[in-house]
Amino acid sequence: MTTALAALGGFVVGAFTWNLAEYLLHRFAMHHLHGRGIMSREHLEHHVKAGWNFSPILLLSWLGVVVVGGLGLLPVAWLIAGPVVAVGVSLGWAAAYFFYEYQHAVAHLRAPSGRYSAWVRHHHFHHHFGHPMENHGVTTPLWDHVFGTWADPGVVKVPRRMALPWLVDEAGEVRPEYRDRYELVGPTSPSDRLDALDRARAFASRPPVVDADADVEAPVSA
Ligand SMILES: [Zn+2]
Ligand SMILES: [Zn+2]
Repeated sequence: MTTALAALGGFVVGAFTWNLAEYLLHRFAMHHLHGRGIMSREHLEHHVKAGWNFSPILLLSWLGVVVVGGLGLLPVAWLIAGPVVAVGVSLGWAAAYFFYEYQHAVAHLRAPSGRYSAWVRHHHFHHHFGHPMENHGVTTPLWDHVFGTWADPGVVKVPRRMALPWLVDEAGEVRPEYRDRYELVGPTSPSDRLDALDRARAFASRPPVVDADADVEAPVSA
């Protein structure tokens, strides 16, 4: 095998390894822990409002990913397959992680620009607004299919108060080009009670309330 092929092979393995970590961390370390630990708490706070802001906490996750890639994956891959493959694995891991961070941020902030970015949003917003225990993968649906948590989003019901900035027009309605995949539901005006319900439900990995009379303990269909 040439050096370039070995490095490329390592890169692909590293990227797949991140993709599995993306799924497992999101499903178990973020949602199953219900706010215990900083990673889970930060993520579930993200579910409360469904917004995206740069936070210094992100620097911690960047550091964590680089440390795992550099101190964990690199020496293991080096022992198994030598230095060239090992460097490829570490770079693939880090590149796939930053690709994930970027795709997740722009899914919340910007309109889709092609089929892939439209898919990322549809798949991810089903997770946010419909079923937080489904569609855990952000950049691919691979591991959701493998572990049985994939769902076809159909038409995603987006609570009005959480509408993504790119989804709605000046009148606050879903832009025509997105109406086959999204609809707005629920009360228009925010309230303390709704805020409290949104937080309680996000931390229970339940979808946000879509009607004003919903109860925090209301059962959620699977
Ligand atoms: Zn999100
Ligand atoms: Zn989530």
